[in-house]
Amino acid sequence: MEFFLPTKLLTGDDVVRKNAALLAAFGKCCLIVTSGSAARRCGALDDVCAALEENGVVYWIYDAVRPNPSIASVLEGGKLAVEKQCDFVVGIGGGSPLDAAKVIAASAANPELDEEALYSMNWPTDPLPVVLVGTTAGTGSEMTPVSVITASTGRKRSFRGEKNYAALSLGDPRYTESMPLAVTASTGVDALAHCLESYFSKKATGVSRAFAIQGVCEILDPLRTVAEGKLPTKEQRRVLYEASLLGGMAISVTGTILPHNLGYYLTESHGIPHGFACAAFHPDLLEHAMRSAPAYSAELYERIGCPAEELIALIRGLTPPTEIRLSPEEIEALLPRWENASAIKNTIGDVSLSQIRDILRKKFL
Ligand code: NAP
Ligand code: FE
Repeated sequence: MEFFLPTKLLTGDDVVRKNAALLAAFGKCCLIVTSGSAARRCGALDDVCAALEENGVVYWIYDAVRPNPSIASVLEGGKLAVEKQCDFVVGIGGGSPLDAAKVIAASAANPELDEEALYSMNWPTDPLPVVLVGTTAGTGSEMTPVSVITASTGRKRSFRGEKNYAALSLGDPRYTESMPLAVTASTGVDALAHCLESYFSKKATGVSRAFAIQGVCEILDPLRTVAEGKLPTKEQRRVLYEASLLGGMAISVTGTILPHNLGYYLTESHGIPHGFACAAFHPDLLEHAMRSAPAYSAELYERIGCPAEELIALIRGLTPPTEIRLSPEEIEALLPRWENASAIKNTIGDVSLSQIRDILRKKFL
């Protein structure tokens, strides 16, 4: 077993203001990395700015990160951090700004690296320290060594390495309360996806399974509320947010598997939000796992107190149907992208290209 997670995590109501000194201790000048509007709307940006101001830290705001962040925005953010001589980076938002913040910190420390050199992760200088403040529940990016950044080819590519962990994550579940139903559903099924994919990864360990199973147990109740078309209560928001962090801790060990890898295609080519794109393939994963690892599957359903059929129905109920139609030729042309994908190789049982073809045909033909 191997376990390494160097991020200090603090959660709770008003955690940013209560830990202002801790947040400000990383230097005299910081770059805040965020997206269009969520960080402002939910109050997280105001809290971070106030915490920095009361400790005399100068800050600059880079708010051009968009969902499925582009490598161009990362390089631009890195340049700004260099120009303003920032000592550290604070990412605020959903997975997109958090992922971007982590790589902006690396780019700022290594401004000579171009896109390809940055993706190689042979970074001569360690990234600037990173503090993350999440507003979705969620990717769990606060606790993962991963950033998913869209390359200039249009493909989502992952950064994954020990240097890509945040130094500090401050999680106030109240920031997630401004999420409308559809964003709550999409980001919530993503958190569930992380727990399930981690459990069914060949790389799962005792530690990752503990996080994954506990995460699923906690996620079920709030997601059942969302499936009924209702927003979670304040308490359910807290539980869902903390469960998303457990999902992050689970995939920090294992990475994700088949549904995330297939889901990237739906996001890149059809604009489906990340969580819904991955959830679209979860029934396929769970059915495959029941065939290839029946005892291991049965153990999960027993531990979470929810039968497979009910879990699959919940996921289907939360995922809007897609209108996507693909021809047999289009499906054949897509298959090579999964030929050597490590996420497919790490999926429990062995998933062949012909099984992926069957999944795509069943859904999109
Ligand atoms: P996101 O892409 O960060 O944001 C999606 C939408 O939610 C945006 O329109 C955003 O608004 C809005 N939003 C965020 N917080 C909100 C709030 N509190 N209230 C209202 N609206 C809010 O969503 P995400 O699902 O959290 O992140 C997805 C990204 O993370 C993908 O790129 C995915 O590949 C990646 N990911 C990373 C990991 C990892 O381990 N690092 C794991 C899974 C997925 P604004 O843009 O207007 O602010
Ligand atoms: Fe995800």
